[in-house]
Amino acid sequence: MIPSVLPTYNRAPLEFVKGEGAWLTAADGRRFLDLGSGIAVNALGHAHPALVEALTSQAQNLWHVSNLYQIPQQQALADKLVEHTFADTVFFTNSGTEACELAVKMARKYFYDKDQPEKVEIITFDGSFHGRSSAGIAAAGSEKMIKGFGPLLPGFVHLTFGDLDGVTNAITEKTAAILIEPVQGEGGIRPVPDAELKALRAICDEHGLLLILDEVQCGVGRTGKLFAHEWAGVAPDIMMVAKGIGGGFPLGAVLATEEAASGMTAGTHGSTYGGNPLGCAVGCAVMDHIADEAFLAEVNRKAGLMRQKLEGLVADHPEVFEEVRGAGLMLGLKCKAVNADVVKAGYDNELITVPAADNVIRLLPPLTLTDEDIAEAVSRLEKTAAQVEAS
Ligand SMILES: *Cc1c(COP(=O)(O)O)cnc(C)c1O
Repeated sequence: MIPSVLPTYNRAPLEFVKGEGAWLTAADGRRFLDLGSGIAVNALGHAHPALVEALTSQAQNLWHVSNLYQIPQQQALADKLVEHTFADTVFFTNSGTEACELAVKMARKYFYDKDQPEKVEIITFDGSFHGRSSAGIAAAGSEKMIKGFGPLLPGFVHLTFGDLDGVTNAITEKTAAILIEPVQGEGGIRPVPDAELKALRAICDEHGLLLILDEVQCGVGRTGKLFAHEWAGVAPDIMMVAKGIGGGFPLGAVLATEEAASGMTAGTHGSTYGGNPLGCAVGCAVMDHIADEAFLAEVNRKAGLMRQKLEGLVADHPEVFEEVRGAGLMLGLKCKAVNADVVKAGYDNELITVPAADNVIRLLPPLTLTDEDIAEAVSRLEKTAAQVEAS
């Protein structure tokens, strides 16, 4: 008999009842160190007092009115995002994949309005992930996600990750945009080198294409800059954001330049819940903490510390781990053992990590984790590796 919850997930037998900072308490009382953050969502950790306050005080006043009216919290969050990024304008969604939907629509509408309606194709890369909507799975194009779900949304050209020559060769009069994650998350924590991101920007400029960055996982302070593309010193035309921006409340956004957004006039897009007062009140509190130089400096310091300790871990356990990769606190351990076994052994040691493609385990801790948490994380990873070695 089918479970009452549609069984599209292979869930671990863990049930959490409370969170605080980087720690989760399970129903049986065990305390887990959380290096997953609900897949890069709880950027400020669990139950951050400022987020609890933002959410509960908003909840006492007003939950929902719809986008037919002014929403001051939405306005405030859009202003903050515009102030701190390349963007001139923002549309709010409830998730990353909804941000993908709008990014694709925006790019196509841009060229349609420029009397270039033939420009509909978007170049994407293998190993990418843009969510599970029809546009998201068509964009990513992996067999695992698309099988059985056709016909797919047409207009995506899939290239090999890192193949810059392929990009130039794939551009035709139909090409509208290049869509890429600056650091692939689901694909196995694969950073795009700065030089490559710069080259993609240059290719877009040369051919009059839009550069769309998916920073749903790598954005909002995760890599030690507010957004990951800042490391390369280039800016996109359109950017997808979600996960960390809501700190645990479902919230996403599409950020764009005035030029790229020029086709999105009244009536061309909408969302019932997107930009609701609850989500945006929390988003404002998240931005107030993370869009701060001192906070980001701390992320970078802790990332350096964690990376150094992880290099030692990998050197000590060559049968389990192959290498450390990633940027900031978006780290991956490429495994020699089966990554799912390592994640599972982690559970036995009260440690949460997240598997990814390419036989990687992801470490995406709350950006607020302490130096003691880092030491504890590495000690639990040591125990986990020893357990995998012994099995
Ligand atoms: C998680 C993720 C998405 C999808 O976000 P949802 O909120 O699950 O729809 C899209 N892109 C990237 C890079 C992601 O990591």
